[in-house]
Amino acid sequence: MNLKKIALPISCIILIIISHILFYNPAELIDIVSGQKAQGFSIVWHNIRYLIEPLYAFVYYVLTLNKDFYKPALIAWTCWLVIGIFIYCAVKKIDFSKWIVKTLYAVLALVTLFAFCALVPIPGPKLIKPQNYISFDIHSHSRFSHDNSSTEKFNQIFHAWAGYDAYFISEHNNTSSFEHFPKNAQLKTVFPAIQIKSRERGLSLVLLSAQPFDGSQYVDLTVKDIIKKAHDNDMLAIMPHWWKWNAYSFQDLKNMGIDGFEIYNCGYRNFDAAQRQKLIDFAKNNNLPTFGSTDWHGWGYMTDVWTVIESKTTENLKEQLAKTSQTKVILYRQEQSGSIIRFIIEPISAYYYYIRDADNKMLASFILWFIILFAFFKTKLSKIFIKYLPLFFSIIFVAAAGYFLYIYIPARQTNTMLFPSLFFGCLGLALLWYGLWKLRNRCG
Ligand SMILES: [Zn+2]
Repeated sequence: MNLKKIALPISCIILIIISHILFYNPAELIDIVSGQKAQGFSIVWHNIRYLIEPLYAFVYYVLTLNKDFYKPALIAWTCWLVIGIFIYCAVKKIDFSKWIVKTLYAVLALVTLFAFCALVPIPGPKLIKPQNYISFDIHSHSRFSHDNSSTEKFNQIFHAWAGYDAYFISEHNNTSSFEHFPKNAQLKTVFPAIQIKSRERGLSLVLLSAQPFDGSQYVDLTVKDIIKKAHDNDMLAIMPHWWKWNAYSFQDLKNMGIDGFEIYNCGYRNFDAAQRQKLIDFAKNNNLPTFGSTDWHGWGYMTDVWTVIESKTTENLKEQLAKTSQTKVILYRQEQSGSIIRFIIEPISAYYYYIRDADNKMLASFILWFIILFAFFKTKLSKIFIKYLPLFFSIIFVAAAGYFLYIYIPARQTNTMLFPSLFFGCLGLALLWYGLWKLRNRCG
């Protein structure tokens, strides 16, 4: 074998191993309420991870980005891709029209990859806990919320995969999904709730109930009135992602009767650490429970937070929460930099965050895939693969558009994301891939 040909992949593998030795420093499970290591708790990964490690790594990277990181990250990836292809074409002296097609192909592939991360169910890390604990999620959504992309069934699957024993379904401003959950799950593993928007500054509350209820009675009230009404109806009123609005002080909310606070939310991760500590201290001093929520909206299937309490059963979860302030909020996450330099070198940053956490087994799979892909792209088969991939994606996106329309119909009263956004988004991507397929055939 020509040594020159394998010099590059071997150098890459050596680099991967060296960077693993230098940077491996995996995240620990921390109870952010106490600030201590979560003794007795651990994370397991679903076996599928080891079969698709590079893809898995990318999905995890995308889904654990802060919400406000998506734009700069996507811009950075696109720039790197376009510049990379430009340099490649310049070195190989490939002509302009083919350069354009390659660039279009790569950018569409990147967008497709991000769409894949958001929409395809790939299970994330699962919490393993001591027997005397239950884990739960007080805040998640299904297609009956306006901005959700997924069904009640997948909501259940997501929570089961991640190791939650029970959860509240808290749609935006309505309670119509609860009856769509299987009867054997209702009030056993799935409990009724609502995320209700108040009259004030867009601020909303999460109300937790022991019994099914009609959410329409809470529409268009002040924060104070929502809390009062919730208490009259024997419900708990929790403040979700307070840092999104910063509208009332903790004490104001306490005076209005708030029953607890979220201190972490997978949808809104950017809560300043010092502010969070203030909230935790306030809650502790006032015997109020604190929670970490997924705020799951169907976009991706990974979480990094679990609220747990000491209990042997999920029955009467709302009553159990009414009696305790002793929650643990277990976080599996390392802080990420939000600096401009991080985004300028985003693909390297992403690699660094990956290598920092990946253990030997994951890395072995990663390297194996690297070798397989390197060998594959040297074969003629890869040319056929690249040729037909646009057509394949085009068909997949048409099917996805059909699926989103199908799951939209029962939730059409409240959902505005499945149709038109996701339906037309998928059709648009199908059209773009089909156009690229035609263009490539013409340009050769
Ligand atoms: Zn929410």
